[in-house]
Amino acid sequence: MSNNNISDSFISFNVPPYVGGELENIKDAVLKHKICGDGEYTKKCNKWLEEKTNTSKALLTTSCTHATEMAALLCNIKPGDEVIMPSYTFVSTADAFVLRGAKAVFVDIRPDTMNIDEKVIEAAITEKTKAIVPVHYAGVSCEMDTIMDIANRHNLYVVEDAAQGIMSSYKGKALGTIGDYGCFSFHETKNYSMGEGGALLIKDPKNLEMAEIIREKGTNRSKFFRGQIDKYTWVEAGSSYLPSELNAAYLYAQLEKADVIYNDRMNSWNHYYKELSPLAKQGRIELPIVPEGCVHNAHMFYIKTKDINERTEFISFMKSQGIGCVFHYIPLHNAPAGQKYGRFNGEDKFTTKESERLVRLPMFYGLTDEQLSYICEKVKEFFSKHSIMT
Ligand SMILES: *Cc1c(COP(=O)(O)O)cnc(C)c1O
Repeated sequence: MSNNNISDSFISFNVPPYVGGELENIKDAVLKHKICGDGEYTKKCNKWLEEKTNTSKALLTTSCTHATEMAALLCNIKPGDEVIMPSYTFVSTADAFVLRGAKAVFVDIRPDTMNIDEKVIEAAITEKTKAIVPVHYAGVSCEMDTIMDIANRHNLYVVEDAAQGIMSSYKGKALGTIGDYGCFSFHETKNYSMGEGGALLIKDPKNLEMAEIIREKGTNRSKFFRGQIDKYTWVEAGSSYLPSELNAAYLYAQLEKADVIYNDRMNSWNHYYKELSPLAKQGRIELPIVPEGCVHNAHMFYIKTKDINERTEFISFMKSQGIGCVFHYIPLHNAPAGQKYGRFNGEDKFTTKESERLVRLPMFYGLTDEQLSYICEKVKEFFSKHSIMT
């Protein structure tokens, strides 16, 4: 691959996964005249998730945002309640709780994993605190033993934002199954996709009935379809959180090839890690850290530059070489809505500083070895001209 053909060989930051089989499944659903929610493909996805994660119940939803909203409803979050979460996360983590009138209480992250710093959670707890929302950044687990211990001692709910964490684990337990509720995303930027979609994992089977009711517009229709009651009615305040069968059919093709996607991404991740290690050893960049006990899913590959200026230069250099690199997140506590609906507790030692240094390299199912080598070559070219971090 040469620089002369950048325009026709631009390496996108993300390409939505497609394994083949998706369209056949969709056609099958169409021909069976079942395209609304909770048909055969939705049930197959739910079952796959339950078996794969070893949890009592999984329900496919219209998004991870909606799965988190369901969790907020199930935790009975009310105006004035406080919910502790990192500021370095996607907006949905906060939105789901803020929408119920809660205040988002942001705390700092750890610089090694970019996850919530479990050591600063307890200081943020007040008599209004209802829940802790750990976000498993890049599919690398938060320190869940400590977080569950804090939650148990203070009688708080734990809702895992495992949007990026499907197929990852912490000490042998699948992410999303450790807290009371876990939320997955199947957005097109995630490892497995249905365009827009997600899933809610429910640890305690006693919460399943209410989850089904909330998901089905506040009715007990799921019970009715199982023949457990003879007619269904409106029993609670709910919404419509079930996805179309067409989307579920698309997703199921990918879940059936979950290991193929997983291995492909892991190969790309390992390729990056190996080839960029010398730059890290020289102190020119930093590479991701995966703590002991955490198995990740190669959701993303990021590097850290010296500072925001070097990152800006790096992104534009890579773009000029035909490679799409992106950064995120602008910490929520600095955003207009974050200031309105939240507060930062404690000191922002790492959230702002580390978020300004992080940049993501292309990562998607089907990234070729040739593309990976080309990207690494360009990363090395850029940093060889840059000073060593002090
Ligand atoms: C992608 C993502 C979400 C939102 O997922 P949707 O399915 O698009 O609603 C929430 N939290 C995190 C950390 C994410 O990465």
